Amino acid sequence: MRPEKRVLVTGGAGFLGSHLCERLLAAGTRVLCVDNFYTGARANVAHLAEHSRFELIEHDVCQPLFVEVDEIYNLACPASPIHYQRDPVQTTKTSVLGAINMLGLAKRLGARILQASTSEVYGDPAVHPQDESYWGNVNPIGPRSCYDEGKRCAETLFFDYRRQHHLEIKVARIFNTYGPRMQPDDGRVVSNFIMQALRGDSISIFGGGTQTRSFCYVDDLVDGLIRLMASPRDFTGPVNLGNPEEFSMIELARAVLAETGSRSRLEFLPLPEDDPKQRRPDITLAGTLGWRPATPLEQGLQRTVAYFQELMDAQPHIKDG
Ligand code: NAD
Ligand code: UDP
Repeated sequence: MRPEKRVLVTGGAGFLGSHLCERLLAAGTRVLCVDNFYTGARANVAHLAEHSRFELIEHDVCQPLFVEVDEIYNLACPASPIHYQRDPVQTTKTSVLGAINMLGLAKRLGARILQASTSEVYGDPAVHPQDESYWGNVNPIGPRSCYDEGKRCAETLFFDYRRQHHLEIKVARIFNTYGPRMQPDDGRVVSNFIMQALRGDSISIFGGGTQTRSFCYVDDLVDGLIRLMASPRDFTGPVNLGNPEEFSMIELARAVLAETGSRSRLEFLPLPEDDPKQRRPDITLAGTLGWRPATPLEQGLQRTVAYFQELMDAQPHIKDG
């Protein structure tokens, strides 16, 4: 009998990683989850701990890792601006050294490896919507650069390892994704607005609120990652994964207020430096994998609001912020 496939998920105790681990286990895979709990938590994968095919290792991807696996999903990296800007040098190290270590591991094992890249490689895009041929408009020395340039360098490393060492690589450019298990205080717009609405606090709109984002529900995104990993050898990406429905932050705020029934008022605060003005993925290439997001914003918000409401009911201190 062929042994079960063993898959490594770095950053597996984070928001996206924990959903990915869950889905891989459900598909019959053995999952090795590696995380240093910088922004993730054991609690995110506590429900998987007893699973016979699940293993969790505390490890920093800036250090080499010696394990035996068939496939690697490299998700380790803080993703929320307040998290990745807290220790920007560490953010760049995680992206760049993490990529080098995981690519080195993939090379030794002959394993297929997928990189969780980001729409941030397009920076504040001068082209709209963004397709994968666009090289981006990134400030190399600003407060977001540790993340944007770290992820760009990781993409470079992936393609050089392919050219130089013939690795089987996959690069996903992930656009804003939301859903249950986001941290209530991680500063991202969807979690901020929902928590503010549920607490009856004012909704913090940065700038005029006309800047846009396209929000993908987590289940759709995880489906895209799994399809990409299973794609033919020559399909490397980079490929955009995101929901092409585009909303301004004011529209998002109104959708959250409608979903929660909250009467919170909108409060306009200064726009952070280098905040991209608009973002929407062209997902034509992802469509060739048979992938398309299925969850409209209203439905995804409903599930996410329910999650945060349950969290607040179970841990009342969260209500106080
Ligand atoms: P997250 O912060 O919830 O998860 C990141 C995980 O990586 C955490 O569990 C964290 O503890 C772990 N980690 C950080 N540094 C590490 C290190 N040095 N060694 C080991 N583990 C480390 O964020 P997320 O939203 O789940 O994002 C996951 C990945 O997807 C990230 O690489 C992120 O850049 C990418 N991404 C996410 C989004 C999004 O909207 N959620 C968008 C674009 C790209
Ligand atoms: N934003 C906002 N209020 C908040 C948090 C964020 O208006 O409380 C805005 C932010 O300025 C940006 C958008 O929402 O224009 C998305 O921010 P997020 O941090 O979620 O993701 P990113 O900027 O990385 O796309």
